[in-house]
Amino acid sequence: MDELIQKYQAIRNKMLAYRFASFIINWDSNTEAPSGSFEARSRHFGILSEDSYKFSTSEETLSVIEELYKNRNSLDEVLKHEIVEAKTSIDKLKKVPMDEYVEYMTLLAKSENIWAKAKNTNDWNLFEPILEKIVAFLRKYVEYTKTPKLQGYNILLDEYEKGMTQADYDEFFNTIKTDLVPFVKEVTSKTLEYNNSFESHKFPIEKQKEFMKYIMEVMDYDLTRGLMKESEHPFTSGIGTTDVRVTNHYYEDNFISSIFSGIHELGHATYEQQVDPELDLTLSGGGGSMALHESQSRFYENIIGRSKEFWKEHYPVLKDLFKKELKGIKLDDFYKHINKSTTSLIRTEADELTYPIHIMIRYDIEKALFNNELEVKDLPKVWKQKVKEYLNIEVPSDKEGVLQDVHWSGGMFGYFPTYALGSAYASQMFKVMNKDFNVFKSLSSKNTKEINAWFKENLHKYGSSKSPKDLFKLCTNQKFNPKHYVNYLIKKYTKIYNLK
Ligand code: ZN
Repeated sequence: MDELIQKYQAIRNKMLAYRFASFIINWDSNTEAPSGSFEARSRHFGILSEDSYKFSTSEETLSVIEELYKNRNSLDEVLKHEIVEAKTSIDKLKKVPMDEYVEYMTLLAKSENIWAKAKNTNDWNLFEPILEKIVAFLRKYVEYTKTPKLQGYNILLDEYEKGMTQADYDEFFNTIKTDLVPFVKEVTSKTLEYNNSFESHKFPIEKQKEFMKYIMEVMDYDLTRGLMKESEHPFTSGIGTTDVRVTNHYYEDNFISSIFSGIHELGHATYEQQVDPELDLTLSGGGGSMALHESQSRFYENIIGRSKEFWKEHYPVLKDLFKKELKGIKLDDFYKHINKSTTSLIRTEADELTYPIHIMIRYDIEKALFNNELEVKDLPKVWKQKVKEYLNIEVPSDKEGVLQDVHWSGGMFGYFPTYALGSAYASQMFKVMNKDFNVFKSLSSKNTKEINAWFKENLHKYGSSKSPKDLFKLCTNQKFNPKHYVNYLIKKYTKIYNLK
């Protein structure tokens, strides 16, 4: 048994080394790599990826996992969880005919480019045939991999958020539909009055970066184990707890963007940095799931970062940096500016209140597709109908409609709901955290240390060593209840918009 575990540790070490190489290459590609390096880079990366795939699916690796699986009840908890997960995904992949799988991977390798072109030229017809093929494969895939417990769309949902089913998400989105949609319509029909004269000003990028440095201190981001650079789209990337990096993007004419993207990514990074370092030598490090990860970024970005209490402490610093640009702008003006809600066409630009509606539209569509109630050719029409129904706006083009997101071109069906679920998780965690200490009051210390410590103890330290549902339960001592999210949003926006 000891020998077997040692063999498995060697496998882990090698997989971690592959992951490290791929993390560094991707990080470099997205931040600093010279444009002329991409051809050679993709050749080298291709060879490494193939090697890594061959290694993780080799006879040797599979037999060690099979053996450990047979003896799973004598393993420690972390290892047992890891082995059961690995065994489940190996068994699943075995059910898919290899030639069909390879064909699908080849399709995905070119689909993103076609989608990008279709989006840029607003040409749905260019993307439709490739999306048809992707959906056709995934419909077969769910047939091949079905189990007595999971069928259809549930299989895809489970891949992005283990344990979440269509029934769970239906309950979640039905709450949003009945309790939130009418409220959103009321709020977005109003205009928020405040001094917005600064919106036309330019905010020097160097000063925005300086403010981000300040925010990193406020959030206690450990710069001996992390750093912040720039990229087109902000992201967090890392391996283990000793190297967790974030990027940001700065716009002269939209300084708000870098503040909240920065806080969002630092939320993800805090999660990764606070995992128990013992898990660094396992494959159970990092965040517990997509939704749990997003719950952390959104907790810091929205619940903390868009609160009056946070800016009461930090607005003077911002104002001091941008003396000219923010002259005469009061805390209340700034607070209203960062919380105003308007209906919009683009998900990634949506505010905290309208965001889940964008996700609900995608969920409805995916569900119908995989329950065979909708065909790919009808997507643009259905998209327009749903946006009209829930957000009461017309979609002028597919570019601002069905073609806006990259996800479906990568076969990522089942992914979107985790974004909204993450926000909902965050609200429930906020409620629970407040039982232990007054969260907003803790911000008067001018940092988030008390919040970070609570998350470390109740969620972060476990990494991905348990199932998402167990992690949520450990963190909140409750089952997920979508009412907390809706109540949080209604309370917050009723106050901001001075509604009765
Ligand atoms: Zn995120």
